[in-house]
Parts: sequence; C-alpha cells; structure tokens
Amino acid sequence: MRSISPSDHSVAIVGAGLIGRLLALLLTERGHPVTLFDRDPIDSGRAAAWTGAGMLAPWAELESADRGVFELGLRSLALWPALADKLGRQAIDYHDGGSLLVAHRGDQAEYRRCLAQLRARLPAGQRDNLHTLDKAGLQTLEPELSANFNEALWLPGEAWLDGQRLLARLGELLQQRGVEWKPETPVDAVLPHTVRAGTQAFHCDTAMDCRGIGAREAFQDLRAVRGEVLWLEAPEVQLTRPVRLLHPRYRLYLVPRRDNLFVLGATQIESSDSGPLTVRSALELLSAAYSLHPGFAEARVVHSDANLRPALDDNLPRITAESGLIRINGLFRHGFLLAPLVASEALSLVETGHASISA
Ligand SMILES: Cc1cc2nc3c(=O)[nH]c(=O)nc-3n(C[C@H](O)[C@H](O)[C@H](O)COP(=O)(O)OP(=O)(O)OC[C@H]3O[C@@H](n4cnc5c(N)ncnc54)[C@H](O)[C@@H]3O)c2cc1C
Repeated sequence: MRSISPSDHSVAIVGAGLIGRLLALLLTERGHPVTLFDRDPIDSGRAAAWTGAGMLAPWAELESADRGVFELGLRSLALWPALADKLGRQAIDYHDGGSLLVAHRGDQAEYRRCLAQLRARLPAGQRDNLHTLDKAGLQTLEPELSANFNEALWLPGEAWLDGQRLLARLGELLQQRGVEWKPETPVDAVLPHTVRAGTQAFHCDTAMDCRGIGAREAFQDLRAVRGEVLWLEAPEVQLTRPVRLLHPRYRLYLVPRRDNLFVLGATQIESSDSGPLTVRSALELLSAAYSLHPGFAEARVVHSDANLRPALDDNLPRITAESGLIRINGLFRHGFLLAPLVASEALSLVETGHASISA
C-alpha cells in the first residue's frame, strides 16, 4: 500500500478457515480495518482446517511432496516458534519434539525405499535432519514403540499443533481485536474491491479470497483431495510425538493431542466427496493403529471426519494479485505448515504490492 497508513486501507477477507483467520490477525495487528466473511459459524464449520491433523512436517512430506513445498515448508516452519509464542503454545497445543517413521518387519522393503527416497531428495545440508534409530534408540525416545519395532527414522526438526485449538484461538483473538466478523454469510463473488453476498455488496480497498475448495470458479485447476480422520481416546497409549507407519498401500499417521486423544489419519483420495468416513477406510485405519500399538484395542473412537484439501495442479500454494483483489489457494496437505509464510507474503502484497511466492 506504499505510503498510505494501514488504518486507511480496509481489507475484506472471504473464508475464515486457516489462512483467512491467520491473515486477518496479521492485518489487524498492522492496523488495517478487517471484515471477515464465512458461510459457517465462528466456532465450527466445513473448513479443511477443522479436520486437519496439524503436523508441521516438511521432511516426512518430502517423500511424496514436491521439492518446492519442502523449501517453502522449511521457511515457514522457521516462523512457527514465534507465532506459537504469540498465540500461546498451550492454547494451540504446539510441540516441537520431532516425529517418527516406522514400518513392520514385513514392510522393510518399503521402509528402505522411503529412506533412500528421502535421502536422495534432501539437499546435502539437510541430511543431518534424518536420524535412524535402532531398538535401543527407539526405546529411549518412544519406549512403547520399541515393543513392536526394531528401528525407526527420527525427524527431530518436525513440530505439530492442534488445528482445532489453533482455529479457536485465532477466532478468540480476532474477536478481541475488533475484527468485523460476518459468520453464516455465504459469499457469491469475490471481486476487485467488492464482496457480493446475496443482494448485498461490501466495498473495501482490497478483497481477499481465502475460500479454499469453495473458490472453484476462481481457480480453473483447483481440485479436492479427500482426507479422513478418526479421533481415538486411548489412555493406555503413551506416545508423545507424531508417528507415521509406512505400508505399501497407504501411509498412516497418528498425532497425539491433549487428554489421551490421538488423531489417526491416512487416506488421500482424489475425490470431491465430503461424505462421512467409509467402512474400508475405518477398517484400514483402525487395524493399522492396533498394529502400531496394542493399547489401541481398548481405545474409544470419539469422532470421525472427512474433508477436502484444496489442491492446485502443481500442488503448490498460489497467491494471485490484481488491483483490489488477492486470491490465496492450493494449501493442499500442507496448510498448517505453510500458513505463516503464505500469510506474511500476502500481507506484504497488500502493503507493498510485492511477494516472493505470488503467481
Ligand atoms: C484430513 C486432513 C488432514 C490434514 N492434515 C494436515 C497436516 O497434518 N498438516 C498440514 O499442514 N495440513 C494438513 N491438512 C491441510 C490443511 O487443513 C489445509 O491445507 C488448510 O485447511 C487449507 O486452508 P484454507 O484456509 O485455504 O482452506 P479452509 O481451511 O478449507 O478454509 C476455507 C474457508 O472458506 C469458507 N468458504 C468457502 N466457500 C465460501 C463461500 N462461498 N462463502 C463464505 N465462506 C466460504 C469455508 O467455510 C472455510 O471456512 C489436512 C487436511 C485434511 C482434510
């Protein structure tokens, strides 16, 4: 915005999911008047972020993700500690104790293949961030896993948080800071300087489209990638960091949360079906969890959910800008990881007209 004061530059954000909320916080802190629109209520809804597992995992994701995601991911991960301090580490249940990858004895070939792939894809200076642990090392780090596994890959730089708590915390701060929030307001069009909802038009200096999968008409290559999760309450399981289980057909992840809860997820399906979890997915997820730790036999399934990740053709995040309009999308399976970087780039676009990752 060059020489104009932020208080004279109003911003309307459409989509109070992950990126919309974080961006609203950064903009309000800078002094911009912000109006935030969402089709859903403040404390729940269809945002992919309400379902997301909250892993901040550039190294583990490198097995399937593009190098570009990895590089952006490292830059963004470096922003997380300061952001977590600002939001309150407890409030968002932020942890940075690294994560583990394991495979059963019968899947050792897959484990070796994965290790080789990660090593080959990592830039030379990054290989120190992969540590192989033997049974004794695993026993020290995560004792309850060492009963079933003889080795593991430890990724000490990875972090995680509770995505639902993050959304709730952002919601709380935004309301305290006087953001004009318009919940339960489905928006029909996000245009330069204008947001249209039903018969009403709201005018602003910059409109920002953060609708995730709801922005299909604005991104021709936007597609939905379904993900499914189960929440397990498992007082008999003491795992303190995210664990990924390698398997030739699927990747299972398990993320610890407060109060004996674990988020269990795996499937990545190219589909726009946001219907409930299927029997097949539930069977695969639950049997894999039980094979990881027998304590899951007595766990309670307290919640199940399925949602759509917004992905673009190159699987990278994209920020597009024209006068009075910025669109952000394509956070795919890395939204929590990439949000601090993407939001600060978008802020820079609003204020200076420049960003390093815009299209
Ligand atoms: C099962 C699963 C697991 C995941 N795990 C991880 C993980 O471990 N780590 C990670 O980094 N990422 C993960 N993700 C990805 C992450 O959740 C997404 O990348 C992120 O939520 C995308 O953020 P967004 O703000 O673009 O979209 P969303 O969070 O989907 O928010 C979009 C918002 O726009 C609103 N909206 C849409 N259309 C309209 C309209 N017409 N009018 C008004 N409002 C509208 C929606 O209601 C919603 O609130 C996971 C996702 C899923 C589904």
